[in-house]
Amino acid sequence: ALPARLFFEAVEQSSVAISITDAKANILYANPAFTRVTGYEASEVMGVNESLLSDRRTPSLVYETLWGRLRQLKPWTGVLVNRRKDGRRYLAELSIAPVLDAQGHLTHYLGMHRDVTEMH
Ligand code: FAD
Repeated sequence: ALPARLFFEAVEQSSVAISITDAKANILYANPAFTRVTGYEASEVMGVNESLLSDRRTPSLVYETLWGRLRQLKPWTGVLVNRRKDGRRYLAELSIAPVLDAQGHLTHYLGMHRDVTEMH
């Protein structure tokens, strides 16, 4: 079996911004690419909701669709307008996947995003 350490290093070294949240979208882990993309250090977003990244202009229908999928324990992928710590807005191509326990109950969410501003 692959050692847990390898999973950790692979996520830490990924070029994609990766975060793991609790069931309410409060951040429990963020990798170094998350810091590069958002400008936030992992330590300062610990326990903070992912809505910290919202630029507050994305139509609420987008979030309702997102949460509608997650409530059905299905993944969601889409593009959101996010805001970095320095205030600069960027287009985030984001995928969120529910993380289930052995009984199939939701315990966490895995978020992965990249800045696609240049591509649009
Ligand atoms: P909210 O108060 O969050 O509510 C918006 C709508 O979503 C409402 O209709 C509400 O009922 C519904 N909703 C909110 N939370 C839940 C919940 N726990 N269960 C069911 N329904 C819910 N948002 C971004 O803008 N940018 C990101 O990069 C981003 N990344 C995310 C990564 C992960 C892993 C997760 C789980 C969520 C992410 N979100 C992101 C969504 C974020 O948590 C907020 O829901 C979103 O930003 C809207 O925030 P709000 O305060 O405007 O509205």
